[in-house]
Amino acid sequence: MHAFTFNGLPSRVVFGAGSINRLESELDALGVHKALVLCTPQQEALAERIAANLGERCSGIYPRAVMHVPIESAVAAREEARRRHADCIVAAGGGSTTGLGKAIALESELPLIAIPTTYAGSEMTPIYGITDGGIKRTGKNPRVLPRSVIYDPQLTLDLPINVSVTSAMNAIAHAAEGLYAQDTNPLMDLAAQQGIAAIADAIPRLRATPRDVVARTDALYGAWLCGMVLGNVGMALHHKLCHTLGGSFALPHAEVHTVVLPHALAFNASAVPEVMSKIARAIGAETAASGMYDLAKTNGAPVSLAAIGMKVEDLDRAAALAVKTPYWNPRPFGPDQIADIRDLLQRAFEGVRPD
Ligand code: NAD
Repeated sequence: MHAFTFNGLPSRVVFGAGSINRLESELDALGVHKALVLCTPQQEALAERIAANLGERCSGIYPRAVMHVPIESAVAAREEARRRHADCIVAAGGGSTTGLGKAIALESELPLIAIPTTYAGSEMTPIYGITDGGIKRTGKNPRVLPRSVIYDPQLTLDLPINVSVTSAMNAIAHAAEGLYAQDTNPLMDLAAQQGIAAIADAIPRLRATPRDVVARTDALYGAWLCGMVLGNVGMALHHKLCHTLGGSFALPHAEVHTVVLPHALAFNASAVPEVMSKIARAIGAETAASGMYDLAKTNGAPVSLAAIGMKVEDLDRAAALAVKTPYWNPRPFGPDQIADIRDLLQRAFEGVRPD
């Protein structure tokens, strides 16, 4: 056992089919009275259902959450919360909606309740991101950590299957990198292995029967664990590459995670073989990298950057950006390793199956 420091995050989780009905008691527990409900335009029906259940305790709906939290959207939502005298925020949706809730909490101190409907995991982290002038600025602040998270698998039954698979791979990526994080600890290690196993087992069942509430429950359970890992320990090469590709080349968030993960694991395999064995065991594969690639491909997810909009002429710039300000990684990658990172990106671009 290695020495470690563990500083658990104070988040409260209400989990289970039908737990959306517990929202009002969560408001009571927080001592708040008027919620502003956030959602994307696509999920307005869910927000309306929540508003109807809350009755007078809903101050209104703000249905304009969009990907990457543009500053204009954060400012407008903060203003809406003020105008409607909301004393708490309810974010019902995926990472984009949770992100908007965090942007409000950051500036207003209003408590945030998250009702996640994807597997992205933002609800378990104190990390926020706001896009200003085309640049996404991220930060960490305990204020943005949702005070309560309601995980109701019933709300995920209609998540389109292609989004479900890539979102689930996005969750696995958090846990996989958590296993070799510099600041990991035995509890996060257990959560990561269990989270990866739960999601890998659920993905084919979701594909076969997207509205199977048991498979949805298992996937959401795994997403909770993987999100907890993301919130508690630092991320490495894989997340650096995804932030670079998503931030500077506008590639879609969950898809880019899905494509890059096998290649990031292959890059790190020689540095942390024992971690790779844990990942391989969790997904029932011979190696972590090839198993992750197969999990994505056999379940209909994209496996090449080319397929999700990356241009070959941008690969040099992506490699240069990624190595310029590297994150800690078990196998260092900085300006001296640019050729290796460029090679990794080439293989991800082409969708080559790693060994
Ligand atoms: P998303 O929130 O953008 O949702 C994708 C689409 O799916 C949206 O149109 C949404 O309305 C729809 N959708 C969501 N749930 C649905 C459901 N159950 N049924 C039908 N449609 C549904 O996607 P995401 O992948 O959840 O989030 C991505 C964003 O989250 C990125 O901006 C990423 O940077 C951020 N993120 C942040 C953290 C963090 O810790 N801060 C962690 C993970 C992701």
